[in-house]
Amino acid sequence: SEFVKEEFSHGMLRTKTVEDILTPLKDCFMLPSSSVLDFSTMSEIMQSGYTRVPIYEEERSNIVEILYVKDLALVDPEDCTPMTTITKFYNHPLHFVFNDTKLDAMLEEFKKGNSHMAIVQKVNNEGEGDPFYEVLGLVTLEDVIEEIIKSEIMDE
Ligand code: ADP
Repeated sequence: SEFVKEEFSHGMLRTKTVEDILTPLKDCFMLPSSSVLDFSTMSEIMQSGYTRVPIYEEERSNIVEILYVKDLALVDPEDCTPMTTITKFYNHPLHFVFNDTKLDAMLEEFKKGNSHMAIVQKVNNEGEGDPFYEVLGLVTLEDVIEEIIKSEIMDE
């Protein structure tokens, strides 16, 4: 029946995790908080084609803020505005999730909140030292939807 088919195709939402579908940190377009919104940085952001840009401090694994491309609407590149002036003004919340979050739970989170992007982290207790949070990458609503569509196509 349709119901069984639906249950089957969306069963993967209960088994797959955000770690399976994330965009790895090394592939993420991000900028340091020390950047300046001059002509060159603003062109780079526009050319990236992304609507959201994580902003990091010192290291890429240390994401501290998020810039929405629409925040740039009133920014004049001639002013060379510091990145932090804009990110502190808009102050969009950062959303962190653990790597083992299942896709159904992630979908619910995205439906509830207004942010459709989350930073995926895991507890790394592999080395000798104390466990620490390791950032693995980004996941967006689009990544979850893509996974649902893929599974529906495979079922046909
Ligand atoms: P956008 O609105 O910027 O196109 P989407 O939410 O539609 O972003 O996501 C499209 C794909 O791009 C997803 O796979 C997502 O993980 C990835 N993505 C989103 N933002 C970035 C970014 N800043 N750097 C790299 N990949 C990103």
